[in-house]
Amino acid sequence: MTLESLAQAVYILAAVLFVLSLAGLSKQETARQGNALGMIGMGLALAATVVLAIDRSERSRIVTAVLVLAVLVVGAVVGVRRARTVEMTQMPELIAMLHSFVGGAAVLVGYNSYLTESNDAVHLIEVFLGVLIGAVTLTGSVVAYLKLSARMSSAPLALPGRNLINLGALVASALLMWWFLASASVIPLILMTIVALGLGWHLVASIGGGDMPVVVSMLNSYSGWAAAAAGFMLGNDLLVVTGALVGASGAILSYLMCRAMNRSFVSVILGGYGTAEGTVAPVVGEQGEHRELDPDDVAELLLDARSVVITPGYGMAVAKAQYPVAELVSRLRARGVQVRFGVHPVAGRLPGHMNVLLAEAKVPYDIVLEMDEINDDLPDTDVVLVIGANDTVNPAALEDPTSPIAGMPVLEVWKARQVVVFKRSMATGYAGVQNPLFLRENTAMLFGDAKEQTERIVAALLDPVGG
Ligand code: NDP
Repeated sequence: MTLESLAQAVYILAAVLFVLSLAGLSKQETARQGNALGMIGMGLALAATVVLAIDRSERSRIVTAVLVLAVLVVGAVVGVRRARTVEMTQMPELIAMLHSFVGGAAVLVGYNSYLTESNDAVHLIEVFLGVLIGAVTLTGSVVAYLKLSARMSSAPLALPGRNLINLGALVASALLMWWFLASASVIPLILMTIVALGLGWHLVASIGGGDMPVVVSMLNSYSGWAAAAAGFMLGNDLLVVTGALVGASGAILSYLMCRAMNRSFVSVILGGYGTAEGTVAPVVGEQGEHRELDPDDVAELLLDARSVVITPGYGMAVAKAQYPVAELVSRLRARGVQVRFGVHPVAGRLPGHMNVLLAEAKVPYDIVLEMDEINDDLPDTDVVLVIGANDTVNPAALEDPTSPIAGMPVLEVWKARQVVVFKRSMATGYAGVQNPLFLRENTAMLFGDAKEQTERIVAALLDPVGG
C-alpha cells in the first residue's frame, strides 16, 4: 500500500466521521459524542494531508515538515486561546471571523491553482467560482464580524439602488467569467476578485445588525461551497465532501432560522429589519400599568405552584444566570414541583444557544422541551418564569398583524396562570418591538439582573420565613 492510497483511505474514514458527527450534533444527548467524532475526523484528515504534503514536496522534506508544523502550531495556539476566552454571547462574531479565513484561503488556493496548474476549461471554471465565492465570503464575514462586535454601526447601509448594485456586480462577474474562459488571462480574474470583494462588503453592510446571525449562517454555507471549490482545484475529495456538508448544513440552518422568525430569506438579504434594540417604544393598542414583584414574592409563588415552566432568552445568557437557574430547578424539583424548560428555536443569539447554556449548568436534558412540545401545556401551568426572554414570548406576534414580528411562532406564556418576567427594565428586545405581555393582568415584572435575582429567589426558598 502506497502512502497515497493510505491517505485516501484515511480521507474516506474522516468523511464518514464527519457525517456521523453531524448526526450526533443534531441531538442534545449525543452532541458531545458528535463533537468528539468530528474532532477525531479532523485530526485524521489533518495528519493525512500533512503527510501527503511532505511526501509530495519538491523541496527538502525536512524544510516542508518544519514549515507545515510551524503554521500548525501558530494556528493551534491562536485558536485555543480564542476558544478559551470567547463568551457564549460572542460566538456568532467568532464564527464570522473564522468564515473570513475560509474565504481568504479559497481566494489564495484559487490564485495558486491558476498559476501552477494547466488551465483547461473545467479548471478555469473551478478557479473562477472558488475565487468568487471565497472573496464574497471574505469581506462579507469581516463586515459581519465588525457589526456583531459593535466595531461598525449595526444599522443597514442604505445606498441608493442597493439591489441594482448587487445585481450589477453579479452581471459584471458573469461577463468577466466569459472573458476569463475565452482568454485564460489573469486580468478578468483580478477584476472579478475586486468586484466580489466589493459585493461581499456591500451585501452584508446593507443588512441590519438584527439579521446578522442569519447572515453568519448564510456565510457559513458560502464558506462551505468555497471550501468545496478549493477541494476541486486541489483534487482533494475530502475537502469537496466536507465543503458540501458545511455548505448544505449552513443553508438548512439559515432556512430554519428564517422560518423560526417567520421571515423570508429574501427579506433578510434585502435588509433593514426592526429598530434599535433596547428602546422603549409605546405599546400600541394595549394600555395599563405593569406590576412588580420582589424575589421573596416570587419564591412564595413558586412554593405554592405544582407546575412551573421556565422560558429562557438572551438575557439569561448575558447575566450568566443558568447556574442559579439550575440550582432553583433542582430545589423546586426536590420539593416535588414539576419544572420544565420551554426553549424557543431562536431564543438567544444563535440556534441552540439556550440548550448549550442549560447543558453547561447540568440541567437534565429530559426537562428541556422545545416550543412546540411545551406550548399546549402552558394553559395548565401554574407559573411561567420568563428569564431574560422578550421577543420569543411576545403575544403581539400572534395578535397584532401590524407588528414587525407578526406571524413569528412564540411561546404562549400568557396562557399560564401567572407569568413572572425577569429583566432589567421595560426596554425592547432584539427586534426592537414593544411587548404587551408585560402589561397583562397575570404578568408581573421582576426587575434586575437575572442572575442576582435568581440567586435571591434560591436564598428565599432555603429560608422562606427569615428571607
Ligand atoms: P430578546 O433579545 O428579545 O430579549 C432579551 C431581553 O433580555 C432584553 O429585553 C433585555 O431586557 C433582557 N436582558 C438583557 N440582559 C439582562 C440581564 N443581565 N438580566 C436580565 N435580563 C436581561 O431575547 P429572546 O431570546 O427572547 O429573543 C431572541 C431574539 O433574537 C429574537 O428576536 C430572535 O429573532 C433574534 N435572533 C435569534 C437568533 C438565534 O438563532 N437564536 C438569530 C437571529 C436573531 P432589559 O434590557 O430590560 O434587561
